[in-house]
Amino acid sequence: MEIKTLINEQELTTRINEVAKQIQKDYNNEEIVLICILKGAVFFATELAKNINSSVIMDFMKVSSYDGTKSTGNLDFTLDISQKIEGRNVLIVEDIVDTGRTLTYLKQYLTSKNPKKLKVCTMLDKKERRELEFTPDYTCFDIPDKFVIGYGLDFDEKYRNLPYIGYIEQ
Ligand code: 5GP
Repeated sequence: MEIKTLINEQELTTRINEVAKQIQKDYNNEEIVLICILKGAVFFATELAKNINSSVIMDFMKVSSYDGTKSTGNLDFTLDISQKIEGRNVLIVEDIVDTGRTLTYLKQYLTSKNPKKLKVCTMLDKKERRELEFTPDYTCFDIPDKFVIGYGLDFDEKYRNLPYIGYIEQ
């Protein structure tokens, strides 16, 4: 199995820094509750948080809809946030938007908790795969319809620790 590079580490860190600065500006340097969606967004969320020079509160949620490389269509919320988000500035941080299901449901769920501001930031977007109409507020990279791994993204739990985004040439 050959892994090809799609986005290298330098490209990732440069773009993540750029998006972090935009987020900081859009949130008027106010405190942000950053909700990292486990496990895939963990590398991205920490890099993003390190580049925001205002107060960031880290929280985590776990939602799974995938089994191997296929979407099962079922969302499983296995870990909920630990913070109260009512009246607070919230940012959902996700690894990749594919069909749009995860973020559509997640956003509905978090909106019901009445945050002051709720935006979505994704590292990658596979727009052509969309089944539900969903547009993230911040996207680091639009990518083609390939199954990608690395920088948090797995293939059967492996490859998350690759420092770049790659894809498997089959
Ligand atoms: P959606 O609900 O938008 O279909 O799927 C989002 C989730 O599917 C992501 O959080 C991610 O876990 C998984 N996913 C979608 N595409 C890929 C991919 O190319 N590679 C990996 N590793 N996971 C993916």
